[in-house]
Amino acid sequence: MSTAFLIGTGKYDITGSVVGSAMMGMSKMGQVTEGIHTRLFSRAFIIGEENDISKRVVIAVADIWSCTIAVKKEVVKRLKDYFGDKYKDENVLITGTHTHSGAGGYSYYPLYISLTGGFDKQNFECIVNGIVESIKIADGNLKTCQIELSKGLINDCGQNRSIEAYNNNPEEEKNRYNASTDNEMTFIRFKNNNKYIGSINWYPIHPTSLGENNKFISGDNKGLASYYFESNINLSQNTGKEFIAAFANSNCGDVSGNVKYGKPPEGKDDFIRMVFYATKLYNQAMRLIKADAETIEGKINYCHTYINMSNILISNSDFKTYPAALGISMLGGSSIDSTSQIPFIKEGLKKGDIMPPIVSEIVQKIFDVLVQVLINFDHPDDLDNEFINGHGNKLIAVAAGLTKPYPLVADILPIQIFTIGSIAILGIPGEITTMAGRRLKEQLQTKLARAGIEHVILCGYSNAYSGYITTKEEYDMQYYEGASTYYGPYTLMAYQQEFTRLAGSIINGSALEQNIAPMDLSGLFKDAKIEKYGSDGTGLVFVDANNSYKKGESVEVKFIGTHPFNDPRTNDTFLKIEKKENENWKTVFTDNDPYTFFHWEAGFISSSILSIKWQTYQDTEAGEYRISYFGNKKDFSQVVGRSKVFQIIDN
Ligand SMILES: [Zn+2]
Repeated sequence: MSTAFLIGTGKYDITGSVVGSAMMGMSKMGQVTEGIHTRLFSRAFIIGEENDISKRVVIAVADIWSCTIAVKKEVVKRLKDYFGDKYKDENVLITGTHTHSGAGGYSYYPLYISLTGGFDKQNFECIVNGIVESIKIADGNLKTCQIELSKGLINDCGQNRSIEAYNNNPEEEKNRYNASTDNEMTFIRFKNNNKYIGSINWYPIHPTSLGENNKFISGDNKGLASYYFESNINLSQNTGKEFIAAFANSNCGDVSGNVKYGKPPEGKDDFIRMVFYATKLYNQAMRLIKADAETIEGKINYCHTYINMSNILISNSDFKTYPAALGISMLGGSSIDSTSQIPFIKEGLKKGDIMPPIVSEIVQKIFDVLVQVLINFDHPDDLDNEFINGHGNKLIAVAAGLTKPYPLVADILPIQIFTIGSIAILGIPGEITTMAGRRLKEQLQTKLARAGIEHVILCGYSNAYSGYITTKEEYDMQYYEGASTYYGPYTLMAYQQEFTRLAGSIINGSALEQNIAPMDLSGLFKDAKIEKYGSDGTGLVFVDANNSYKKGESVEVKFIGTHPFNDPRTNDTFLKIEKKENENWKTVFTDNDPYTFFHWEAGFISSSILSIKWQTYQDTEAGEYRISYFGNKKDFSQVVGRSKVFQIIDN
């Protein structure tokens, strides 16, 4: 008889600010949301022992760039208000899929919000509320389940985007692996009475198929893979919407799907690239849900602690970490995925290069001004030698950890381990590169073997964000990831040491003493969004449909409606593609389906024009259709607009 676990699953909309919010990930000025390609969701999984309520963990995988301390703390606070002590910091893990096509403004740390529109209360609220609701739903439907694990490789699904940095790792270490990325998907599935109610998989790839010019909200390759997989499994099992599938991220710090094909092109071609990678992820998930799998047996455990990354001494060495500093090469972004916002900044600029002292000075001056003028923060005029030397090869552009009144990025960070039978999941508060991930995994594998652990899973973007984590050798090259490793060349070693310490407490069954916590900055942030949301239209058709379209053509209609800021229509839709069946209108697609695009633009005299585009295909059913638009006025009352009835005809 295999071990039975209690499993609950829940999914809730976190789409957030549909229009006018700076998008999070590319750090591109002017990349502001203008509509929806697919909605974003939090997918929550509660995994517990059958007879012990204290042995229970929550994994919430959200279609966001990363979890932040602000989001985690507020979610836990609301869970405590609702459930009491059942769910807390220690046993709740919130991870972002790392989509770069969602609205931002949900961190309290200025680096992530100061230049992109400030704190976005509406978006923060949607994300926090959606995660909390997904966990409540999961808590309400706990069932006895088996957990099964399988693994599989995916070919040509992401390459190393900083190969020069990767290649600086020791030869003998590289020789142990046959690729410069980890292209294995780890897949766990939850089975109840021979039906699957959910699955989580981890695979390292940047969801940057949609490029820096995209303004549609989208879960990118991972979100789309979830959409395909959930639709298909629910259809084949006849389980309605019960089956929930999360595509989480892993050690993808230096992994991108754009290396081989170039920067995502403008416009619709990047949507084709997203489908390409989503299909690869989906196909492997389809194989792994059917594949022979290992049944997971045993107990559940969890451990969590805060560490001060600005000052960790590495045992038996002279090494330590330092308060955060951003390297010059970080300012340009990854050259594979985006265009540098600052001319003449390229990857790999480091101490001792001939040009850099001048570049360094100019950039530092620019940032001094930005830091002080834009957000009233003080940046030290002179950096002491210990700090400069401590950051090794990094050419320091901004001493982000030394600004006053508080640092531009987090210094106190959460680390977390869950064990579920022979599986250990590491909640890592940043972006870890391929080789850095392998080192951490190997060390924890060895340590946790004593607790019966056979599978260590790296779960990046968990509970907080703190830039990248590279190996010392990669750091020395100062490519984008190395320049974005905030706490110096020994950041990875610090994580290895601290995660090992945390693993020790799992083995001993003793909780770690906790005497530090992140600063509470929640009171300091007001919504920075200016209220100018125009007049409320009535849903009047502005550009109507044609009489008929051939299969494969796209249908586009425009309405004069309301500004989506009035209400993001959470768990609902701004549009319906409706088909006439037996004199009734049946909804075939909403704004969450990848075949539709919902777009806002400013119209005349502060009105809102809403465009709805539907891409048909050869397998679209012929027949009579109409497109309906739904919006909310400032007083939340609903307006509805309808296109004329049109035909989809065979070619
Ligand atoms: Zn990233």
